[in-house]
Amino acid sequence: MSQGEPVRVCIIPTGGTIASIYDSESQAYRPGLSVDTLLSYLPEGMGKIEVIKRELFQLDSANAQPHHWQEVASCIKATYEEIPDLAGFVVLHGTDTMVYTASAVSFMIQDFGKPIVFTGSQIPASMPWSDGPRNLRDALRVAAWADLGETCIVFNGEIHRATRVKKLRDRDHDAFDSADPTPLGMLARDIVLYEGRTKRHNLIPRFDTRLDDRVFLLKVFPGIPPSVISRIVDMGYHGIVIEGYGSGNIPTQENALTGPIKQAVSEGCSMLMSTQCAFGQADLSFYEVGKAALDVGALSAHDMTSEAAVVKLMWILGHTRERDVVKEMILTNYVSEVTLSDSKTIRGTSPMNP
Ligand code: ASP
Repeated sequence: MSQGEPVRVCIIPTGGTIASIYDSESQAYRPGLSVDTLLSYLPEGMGKIEVIKRELFQLDSANAQPHHWQEVASCIKATYEEIPDLAGFVVLHGTDTMVYTASAVSFMIQDFGKPIVFTGSQIPASMPWSDGPRNLRDALRVAAWADLGETCIVFNGEIHRATRVKKLRDRDHDAFDSADPTPLGMLARDIVLYEGRTKRHNLIPRFDTRLDDRVFLLKVFPGIPPSVISRIVDMGYHGIVIEGYGSGNIPTQENALTGPIKQAVSEGCSMLMSTQCAFGQADLSFYEVGKAALDVGALSAHDMTSEAAVVKLMWILGHTRERDVVKEMILTNYVSEVTLSDSKTIRGTSPMNP
């Protein structure tokens, strides 16, 4: 798409630091700036982009819940149906849980064929040294002109795949890193996009916001009481992502987690092993303490981030709780969220839309 052509981009604000103002009553920052104010910080030269606004929330993303993910996806769907020739979408979002929302939108809107760009900032846009105007400008550039057909996070000049990115820094402008593979691209004088991304296309998008939010994320630590797993099952959870050590390892001797995992599986709770390493993956066949989890019925998240694994499991359980189908869907690569030699990559058909 030529940068000379006028294009239309939809901005969906949801709050976050980028839109935050100082509240003298609480003496802390909270979202409050409108899209118009945020756009007023951008240079005039963005005029080739016609912005369509869909004010959605003014939330600190620490307050985002799974139903907010569904509302973001539904807003994109409704706007897309109303204005199909939009070049792309920008979702303004707090950085704290941006990865979860962006991952959820990835699973809920597949084969979109246009960029859905999440961005935000580390410093409120109202401050002169904020990274917000730059990130908003970059996000608009990507949404308007990048040859990208998937959901991404644009931040600090980098373009990350939504399901492969983690928030690693709470202050630096460089808040996010792609866990693996490398980012989708970067912004310099031109928008530089790497191989392996999904390009713009004209397939018919598939929207499916079904979700079961009864998924728990549990981090293993020395001394973790095994009974915590049965307590979680008793609370009505249908899935648990266990962040094991290193390649997905768990205690198997004193305070062994294997018995409770086996029991949870037998009660119909899906158990998914991921890693608590920022860069790494669950490889449950290497150590006895990893294989033991497999042997009692846990599934491997392979190289999915824990965030993507939690969202994917919620999305899968929104469709089925049947063990074999859950397993098959975990081993299916829907939106490039996982790398598996034996996985199925979905394009055009999936268990969500047979
Ligand atoms: N607490 C903020 C939020 O996630 C942090 C940020 O946006 O950077 O909404």
